[in-house]
Amino acid sequence: MKVRSARFVKSTLKPADFPSDRLQEIAFIGRSNVGKSRLLNALAGIQGLARISSSPGRTQTINFFLINDRLYFVDLPGYGYAKVPKQIQAGWQGMVEGYLRDRPQLKLVLLLVDCRIPPTPADIEAKAWLDYFNIQSTVILTKSDKLSRNRMLLSVKRAKEMLGSVELIPFSAVSGFGKDAVWRKIQAAVSQV
Ligand code: GDP
Repeated sequence: MKVRSARFVKSTLKPADFPSDRLQEIAFIGRSNVGKSRLLNALAGIQGLARISSSPGRTQTINFFLINDRLYFVDLPGYGYAKVPKQIQAGWQGMVEGYLRDRPQLKLVLLLVDCRIPPTPADIEAKAWLDYFNIQSTVILTKSDKLSRNRMLLSVKRAKEMLGSVELIPFSAVSGFGKDAVWRKIQAAVSQV
């Protein structure tokens, strides 16, 4: 898709503040530091749209970005912060799960996994959770520029086995590799955008 406009709309913790215009949504989820901001920026074609994380433990919210006045990219809080108290983690989880389960306009979840690291228990749980609730998702293997072609093939195989995922898209924010494939997937999931 040709991106003509992309802008940050809001950052919120409360479902009552989610956009109410019923535009279709694509959600992004993954552990902290996985490359979510860089993927969002690359897809939108705007460097500073989503903030590149400097401190992984920062408080996180659900962030909405409007693309071409037609579609929202929804940046969900990263999971797997070692330093965050369990209680706060549980709060985030409740908020994210609430969003994912109660959002008819949500068309696709992009689940990001770092290609260099075997999927973590949190990644596996997230994928199983999405499958259980029949929420359409695709796994994006981020930072593909960090591995040789052979190692990347092994990483794809491992992630497929561990996540039980048939479909998986390698992506690099540095080279742009995989960007068109991710966009094709998004376009297939949304109607007439
Ligand atoms: P987030 O916490 O998931 O939003 O992750 P960020 O997008 O902020 O990225 C975390 C770190 O990984 C930053 O230092 C990025 O520059 C780096 N990074 C993200 N994507 C890529 C990529 O595709 N290739 C490389 N080499 N580094 C990346």
